[in-house]
Amino acid sequence: MSGPIGITRRLGELLLGTEPRLRGRLTMCLLANSLYLGWLLFIALFIVPRGLVSPGVGQFLMAHQLIALITFYPLVRSGLTHHWSDPGLVLPQIAWACLALVVGYAVSPIGRAVSLQTMSLIVVFGFLSLRPRAAVWTGIGMICMLLGMLVWCILSRQENFEPRLQTLIIVTTCFILALLTWQSHGFAMRRKRMSADRKALAAALQEVEVLMQHDTLTGLYNRQHLQTRLEAERERARAGGHRFCVALIDLDHFKLINDRHGHAMGDHVLVAFARQAQAVLRETDTIARWGGEEFLILLPDTEPVDKAGIALRRLQASLRGAPISDAEPNMRVTFSAGVAEWAKGESIEQLLDRADAALYDAKRQGRDRAVQAPLPLPAHPAPP
Ligand code: GH3
Ligand code: MG
Ligand code: MG
Repeated sequence: MSGPIGITRRLGELLLGTEPRLRGRLTMCLLANSLYLGWLLFIALFIVPRGLVSPGVGQFLMAHQLIALITFYPLVRSGLTHHWSDPGLVLPQIAWACLALVVGYAVSPIGRAVSLQTMSLIVVFGFLSLRPRAAVWTGIGMICMLLGMLVWCILSRQENFEPRLQTLIIVTTCFILALLTWQSHGFAMRRKRMSADRKALAAALQEVEVLMQHDTLTGLYNRQHLQTRLEAERERARAGGHRFCVALIDLDHFKLINDRHGHAMGDHVLVAFARQAQAVLRETDTIARWGGEEFLILLPDTEPVDKAGIALRRLQASLRGAPISDAEPNMRVTFSAGVAEWAKGESIEQLLDRADAALYDAKRQGRDRAVQAPLPLPAHPAPP
C-alpha cells in the first residue's frame, strides 16, 4: 500500500511495532514523552529565561525531562523489557515523574500551582496498568515523597512557603492520594481476577473441545470427529485428485473376552488395542473408536502401494507378538477388517458401506484377516 495512508501505517508500525500489547505500552510511553517534551520546552523557553527558578534547579529539571525522553521509550521499543515484570516501565516512569513534580513543588510557586494535580493524574494513569502491589507501593511512595518534601521545606524555610497553608494542602492531597491508591488497588485486583478467570475459561474450553473429539475409554478420536475428518479428506481428494482408504476393524469374539475374563478385562483390551494400533500407524493416519469394539482408520495418500494392507499386517503382527495383558499372558486378540478405497464421486456413507460389507466378508471367511472391498460399479455404465 502506498500514498499517505500507507506511509502513516508504516510510520505507526515503526514507532509502535505490530504486537497489540507492545503497541499499548508504547502508546502510553509516547504520551508521557509528549508531556516530557512539553515541560522541557516550557522550562527552557519560559521558566528559566524569566528567572522563575534558579539556574541550578532549571538545569536539574531539564536534565530530568531529557533523561526520561531518551530512556523509557527506547527501552520499551527495543523489546528489552518484554519479559520484565513491568514491561511498560510504568512504575519507574511514575516514580521518575513524581520526583520532578515534588522538586518543582518545593522550589517554585509555579511548581506548586501544577504539581499536585499532575500527581493525581499520574495515579489515575497507573489505574490502567499497575498490578495490585505496585499500585499500593506507588501510592505509599508518592505520599512519603510529599510528606518528606513538606518537612524539608519547613525545616529549610523555603522562600514564599507558608507552612500552615502548605501543610493543609499537602495533607489533603495525601488523603486524596490514599483514596485513589485504594481504588487503584481494587481495580488492579479486579483486573487480575478477570485475567485469571479468562485463563481458566480458555483452559476449560480447550478441555471441552478435547472431550468432544475423543473417546473417554481409549483416548482415541471419537466417531463424530473422524466423520468430520473423513468429509474433509474427501474434499481434499476431490480437489487434488488423491486417493485415500478406510479400514473398518472389528475385534474377533470380543464377547467371549468379556464373558470369560470380565468386563474390566474387556475394557483393558480395548485400551491396549488402541495403544498398539497408534504405535504401528503412520502419523498421517487417523484412528478412531467407531463404536463398542469397532475401530475405523483413515489412511490418506495410500497410493501407489497397498499402504492400508501393510498397516493392518503390522498391527496383526504386533498383536500376535506380545500378550495384550500381563494378567492373561495366553490371551491373544485378533481382528477382522474391511478395507475400502474411496472412489471418485462416492459419498462417505457409500464408502463406509463398502468397508462394512468387506468386514462382513472377512468375518464370514473365518476372521483374523483383512478383506479389500471391490470398487463400486459405475452408476451409469458407459454405453458399449
Ligand atoms: P465377532 O467376532 O463376530 O465380532 O464377535 P464379537 O463377540 O466380537 O461380536 P459382538 O458384536 O456380538 O460383541 C461385541 C461385544 O463388545 C458386545 C459388547 O458387550 C462388547 N462391548 C461393547 N462395548 C464395550 C466396552 O466399552 N467395554 C467392554 N468391555 N465391552 C464392550
Ligand atoms: Mg462388533
Ligand atoms: Mg467383534
